Parts: sequence; C-alpha cells; structure tokens
Amino acid sequence: MAMTASGCGSGDGSSAAESVSSAAEQTTASSAAVTEVTTVETAPSTTQHPAKEASEYGKVLALTFDDGPNTTCTPYVLDLLEKYDARASFFVIGNNINEESAQVMKRAYDMGCEINNHSRTHSYMNKMDADEIKEEIKYTSELVEKYTGEQPRFFRPPYIAVNQTMFDSIDLPFINGKGCNDWDDKVSAETRIEKVLEQAEDGAIILLHDADMNFQTVQALETLIPELQKQGYELVTLTELFFAKGITPVSDSTPKIYSNCMQEGNWS
Ligand SMILES: [Zn+2]
Repeated sequence: MAMTASGCGSGDGSSAAESVSSAAEQTTASSAAVTEVTTVETAPSTTQHPAKEASEYGKVLALTFDDGPNTTCTPYVLDLLEKYDARASFFVIGNNINEESAQVMKRAYDMGCEINNHSRTHSYMNKMDADEIKEEIKYTSELVEKYTGEQPRFFRPPYIAVNQTMFDSIDLPFINGKGCNDWDDKVSAETRIEKVLEQAEDGAIILLHDADMNFQTVQALETLIPELQKQGYELVTLTELFFAKGITPVSDSTPKIYSNCMQEGNWS
C-alpha cells in the first residue's frame, strides 16, 4: 500500500516558520551595529501556524474531522487540503492508530494540521467514572505524541455525550461543531455541501468525518474547500482559529463546548 507519507513532506507553515526564525537569528547576530530590533508577536506554535499576527487574519473557519486515522479516507482528505493549501484539525480515535494509519496522521501533522483527541474506544464517556475517562484521554494523547511529538490540544466527546465528571476530568477544551450528518451513508455529497455552506460563518467549527471509506465527504470537500475559500474564509486549525480571534478556550471544569470560537453561551 503506497502511502505517500513522505511525499507531501513539510508543510508551508513549518517552512515559513523556519525561515522566519532563521531570519530572526540573522537579525540578532548582525544587530551589534543595529540598535532597533523589531519583535513581532506570533502564534505560540512554530509548526502548526504560519508566522503571522492575529490582526492579519480575516474570516476564519476550522474544518474538523473525526474518527480517523485510517488509510482509506484520511489520505484523500489530506490530498485535497494540500491541493488547496488549507489546514484542518483531526480528532483521532486511539484504537484506530496503528503503524500504517500513524504514518497518515504524521503526514497530516507535517502539513500543518492539528491532531486532537477523540478518546481511545469511542464509547459513551458520560457513563464512565473519572479514572476510566482519564485513561481514554491519556492513551490517545500519548500515542499522538509518540508519532507527532506533540500532545493534542482539544477534545471532542464521542457522540457529543458529556457530563460534569468529564468536564472535571479532562484538561482540554471541549469541541462540538456544525455538522451535516456525514457519518450517514444516506446523506449525499450534495446535501453535505449544502449543509456546511448554510452553517459557515466567521469563527465556525465544522464537524466532518474522515471515517473509514467515507468517500462522500471526500467528494463534498472537492467542492467545499474552494467554495469556502472563494467566500473569503481562511481554513485554519482550531488553535489558529482561537488565536486569530484573541480567545483563550476554557479547559477548566466549566461545562462549555464550542461550535464557534466566539460563542458566548456554554453550548450551541
Ligand atoms: Zn466520532
């Protein structure tokens, strides 16, 4: 199975950040004669963001994909993101990570995408006790770190089933999203496109699935990504979405779950 794990190589974000930092080093090195050094505040990560300020973003939208990684659907999603120079966030299931699918996950990370936590077993976690909940999170976060070098920054609850024990036990912001029932084979690619476009707005989090064999979502993305870009949206990771709007997502015991980074209420 020819996964082009290395073919898509380092993303633009990473190389841009590297060239900025090496430029900064040169500036520092040669600044003996130059007294004024300009410092620019950029996003906190050098790998998952282009080096730019929050004020440089216009309309932003985060495409998010649940239930991977796999070698049937995820690579096609990545091909399209790469084709249109877009970034997305993947909420992976720990038990789906094996030697092959991990290479796909690594490819996503290297492209500037973000790898987040969607539990280990994809069970109803609102029926678990605190220790079971923590184990679900720990297992997946450690595997993601093993393959990408970085731990997940966000959590999406399986079935969006939550309770206070989960908010108390999980030290990550909870993410919902605006969905289009794309886990259901009976929902056509056309309907998926329409529903996403209806719900698109500045700061929105779109909930999609790169589940095994979910080709109708791949088909929908072929239209959706260029259309959203045509409408002026920059497609960014979740970390970048919050950064662009100057918002720190809550990760304490507050029972808040985001479908738009700017949402006021706890739930939408
Ligand atoms: Zn799921």
